[in-house]
Amino acid sequence: MDQFIYLDNAATTKTSPTVVEAMLPYFSEYYGNASGIYGIGVKSREAVNHSREIIASTIGARPEEIYFTAGGTESDNWALKAAAEMFCGVRAGGEASGTLCRAGAENTAKKHLITTRIEHHAVLHTCEYLEKAGIEVTYLNVDENGIIRLDELEQAIRPDTFLISVMFANNEVGTIQPIREIGKIARKYGVLFHTDAVQAYGQLPIDVEELQIDLMSASAHKLNGPKGVGFLYIRRNLRLRSFLHGGAQERHRRAGTENVPGIVGFGQAAKEAAETMEERTARETGLRDYLIDRVLKEIPYTRLNGHRTRRLPNNANFSFQFAEGETLLIMLDMEGICASSGSACTSGSLDPSHVLLAMGLPEDIAHGSLRLTLSAETTREEIDITVEKIRQIVERLRGMSPQYEDFRRRIPR
Ligand SMILES: *Cc1c(COP(=O)(O)O)cnc(C)c1O
Repeated sequence: MDQFIYLDNAATTKTSPTVVEAMLPYFSEYYGNASGIYGIGVKSREAVNHSREIIASTIGARPEEIYFTAGGTESDNWALKAAAEMFCGVRAGGEASGTLCRAGAENTAKKHLITTRIEHHAVLHTCEYLEKAGIEVTYLNVDENGIIRLDELEQAIRPDTFLISVMFANNEVGTIQPIREIGKIARKYGVLFHTDAVQAYGQLPIDVEELQIDLMSASAHKLNGPKGVGFLYIRRNLRLRSFLHGGAQERHRRAGTENVPGIVGFGQAAKEAAETMEERTARETGLRDYLIDRVLKEIPYTRLNGHRTRRLPNNANFSFQFAEGETLLIMLDMEGICASSGSACTSGSLDPSHVLLAMGLPEDIAHGSLRLTLSAETTREEIDITVEKIRQIVERLRGMSPQYEDFRRRIPR
């Protein structure tokens, strides 16, 4: 059998068989519309509410604070755009006029939001959209490990700041942000706090009360659930506008017939992730560290990107000097090893990673990164095979690199 090693779990995960099993009856048996008053409609509604309860319980929220969406991207868009509109009178479709936030029109208007340079594009591109609409955005820098500086965050807050949006953990380098401290600062200044927890949810314990999070995005397919379903946690009493207008679903805030099988699958995946979290992440952390240690020890001129310990249990990200990242990926693929250069959105494009650039890596090195993200099913044997292949491929690529030859010649013997 051909070798197949999947190490791209930050891009997406395999839907777990028990999740699929939980979903199946909701396709052709209990297919009723959750708004229906007849038996199978009620069955759907109960299933949706059951998932809502499970998910709420995993983050210390109330069920009525969980709104199902079509994934992480939608949740991020909703949080940012609706927060802007709430404080600023931003109107959808008004972006061309640049008058969404009429300065001085209302002295209560707030038009400043703070985010970071290393967010997922679902946040960054939404910020760019909001900037065209007259919102002012501060993009916080990060240190060499990809962590924001709290004093810079505090200094960036203005009287008209309405939102701080900082991701829980980064999808490329796995770095975990000081969420508790950010929550504290946000609360102190009366600014809303949104976090994109798409990578963190299911891997790290999260309590929205303890961490003082007001808005939080998550997505099922990053934790062995189905694709196309996510949630936005919205703190109670927060009068965030509806994202989709239409029916009365999701308490009138996100119209559209519920994706019942998807939501059921998300609930099941969330339950499994919560139940297995401690043991699973301890095991993955061990394998991750084994992988990192071997690569750094056995392949010279290699650096680990992201913080050594404050990182997701399943994430390793390396840069290999004198070895082009894209070629490395293609050659790994020929060996049946699925890896990534960082984010699904930048692979295939020639742009270096915006995350690595923000961390201060020079452009040539930011091009050459390799992200390996493990799952509960990853074995030590797979790691061994992968390290060996990377070592061989990097050696071959360097053997063809004039820069490497040059560099070697200049090393004093
Ligand atoms: C995958 C990802 C998203 C997008 O989620 P989708 O459900 O794929 O839309 C957003 N933010 C982060 C950090 C992610 O890793």
